[in-house]
Amino acid sequence: VSPPGTAEELRRRLGAEVVLPDVPARYLSDATESRALRGTADAVALPRSTAEVADVLRACCDLGVPVVPRGGGTGFSGGCVPDGGVVLGLERMSRVVSFEPLLWRMRVDAGVTTSTVRRLARESGLLFPPDPGAGEQSQLGGNVATNAGGPHAFKYGVTRAWVTGLEVVVPPGETIRLGGDTRKDVAGLDLLGLLVGSEGTLGVVTSVWLRLVPAPEAALPVIALYPDAEAGCAAVERLLGYGLAVSALEFLDAATMELAGGGLPVDAPAGPAFALIAEADGTEAAAAALRDEVEDCCREDALLVHSPRSAADVAALWRWREGVSLAVEAVRGGKVSEDVDVPVERLGELLAAMEAIGSRHDLRTCNWGHAGDGNVHATFLVDPGDPAELERAEHAAGDLFAAALELGGTISGEHGIGLVKLPHRERQFSPAERALQERVKRAFDPGWLLNPGKKLA
Ligand SMILES: Cc1cc2nc3c(=O)[nH]c(=O)nc-3n(C[C@H](O)[C@H](O)[C@H](O)COP(=O)(O)OP(=O)(O)OC[C@H]3O[C@@H](n4cnc5c(N)ncnc54)[C@H](O)[C@@H]3O)c2cc1C
Repeated sequence: VSPPGTAEELRRRLGAEVVLPDVPARYLSDATESRALRGTADAVALPRSTAEVADVLRACCDLGVPVVPRGGGTGFSGGCVPDGGVVLGLERMSRVVSFEPLLWRMRVDAGVTTSTVRRLARESGLLFPPDPGAGEQSQLGGNVATNAGGPHAFKYGVTRAWVTGLEVVVPPGETIRLGGDTRKDVAGLDLLGLLVGSEGTLGVVTSVWLRLVPAPEAALPVIALYPDAEAGCAAVERLLGYGLAVSALEFLDAATMELAGGGLPVDAPAGPAFALIAEADGTEAAAAALRDEVEDCCREDALLVHSPRSAADVAALWRWREGVSLAVEAVRGGKVSEDVDVPVERLGELLAAMEAIGSRHDLRTCNWGHAGDGNVHATFLVDPGDPAELERAEHAAGDLFAAALELGGTISGEHGIGLVKLPHRERQFSPAERALQERVKRAFDPGWLLNPGKKLA
């Protein structure tokens, strides 16, 4: 709990340019608003430079006030939802500090959006592969703090694989630099690796050094529809077994297709179907050859195998895929959507478990996600205005986490623990593992003021 008069004191110390006169509602929630999560804050600080971020942290540490770093607010775990204290928004730090296309690298302020980085890279023939689905709003700092993935993480890896350096402000207001333009650095303990995915609990990321790759000449998706999850999951394993190195391997189960399939830009047979999207990339010739092999491999048991040919049709397919989350949410006005991850060959078992969990808790379910990574957006549809249903969904999510762990998986493959999965952390980590994580936290943040109540408690 912050001391009384915190906002006034911070405004006095940091100036009215940095600390807003009030607390606008948009700083109190993230994408978990669809499950009725909303916080409170004493103040919102929007620094314009690393020095000002350090000033905010210094003042908060001095006053004993919690600090909640905030990027684009697209997180799905309540990671930037405050429970009192100061929201520290990075949105004003949105400079592309340097871009050297011939050296395949870029350095950006933490507040630059994901789609800005991807667009700039593309315009110079390069690729920044991480593609979490809300790139117009999400920021690089948020991507780093959640170690974000996306469809193309299957081939290219998650954000960590693309970060070579970080500038970070740590309590009580010290600025440190980890790595930089070098592509390799094993000199110290891997603090950079610890910071990536730390969900704002170890430091405030202010600047990010990124590596890029030359963009593939062509990226050619194939969509295949199957009568059921069993046939679809078998196709996933076949693609892997045949050694077809696709760049993305996505799935949407029949329930998702029923809810969101209306806008699918493909002539599909009527009736529920389990969908796979696999993308082949490379030079024009290599991508086309791989696409043909993927088509052949997908044909067994398929109701349809289709490859959009024009650039516009390819773009329409991915645009539709990006809209699935919102289309599903619109059905009942809300959803409790998790991001468990299991070894890829257990995907079918997880989907079966979800069906049983949904029936047990009297909730409608649907699942989609990154099949190649075994990463499932396991979703319970809810009315956010119905507290009893929300409570059932929370219990159902607990059963889902238990099922994922039973299958050798994790309770979070993408979105992090944040606030919403904190009660389930004990399911995954032993007391010794939790204690070790907490000692690391204390080493960075002895006062436990950075994003308290998230990730580690
Ligand atoms: C439609 C939709 C689709 C999505 N698809 C994907 C997907 O495919 N893959 C995926 O991984 N995620 C996905 N997400 C989740 C989300 O977009 C990612 O987690 C993203 O990386 C969050 O970035 P953000 O800037 O919005 O962070 P926020 O939501 O603002 O914050 C997330 C966490 O990061 C911390 N944080 C933010 N900025 C900083 C900083 N500068 N320094 C320290 N800590 C910071 C916050 O405290 C919080 O704990 C999706 C979200 C939506 C709404």
